[in-house]
Amino acid sequence: MFELPKLKYSYDALLPHIDAKTMEIHHTKHHAAYISALNDAITGTKSEGKSLEEIIKGENLSPAVRNNGGGHWNHSFFWEILTPNGGSVPSGPFAEELLKVFNNFENFKEEFEKAALARFGSGWVWLVKTQDGLMICSTPNQDNPLMKDVPIHGTPILGLDVWEHAYYLNYQNHRADYVKAFWNVVDWEEVGRRFSEAS
Ligand code: MN
Repeated sequence: MFELPKLKYSYDALLPHIDAKTMEIHHTKHHAAYISALNDAITGTKSEGKSLEEIIKGENLSPAVRNNGGGHWNHSFFWEILTPNGGSVPSGPFAEELLKVFNNFENFKEEFEKAALARFGSGWVWLVKTQDGLMICSTPNQDNPLMKDVPIHGTPILGLDVWEHAYYLNYQNHRADYVKAFWNVVDWEEVGRRFSEAS
């Protein structure tokens, strides 16, 4: 059975960019609910006992497994690429590749922000390592680029939750301000590590 992962920082650690109440509700209510619904959905099926990645990379996912398995993976990933000590810039092989594809860091951020604002309704925006190199994409609901039938398939190395539950308490309808604030809490070291480890 899947369990709610612990965060490596406190709920108020990302202030003022992400507020403590949002973090607490997002982790203990939203993320926990995906896990509990995922456990319910896989109990007694052939998915029971498989790893989360194996499950969401599978064929013909039921809506319950897709939404809640994706929800569990996406949130677990999201907590790990955030840090109270953010605000730096990428470095190493990841930075070299990023600059090759997007010319400069500011341009990359602009493209990512554009994708975040263009996502209608609920979903995620991603930086993905694909067969054809680094790409920005967005997915609806709790889909992600690991899933088989998404338009841009690959390994997510950066992701941002643009569901209203991720920002509404602090930013209300101002998604653009939340997306800009996100850059202050990105753990580029972790993103770079994921870039290097992705096949
Ligand atoms: Mn969320």
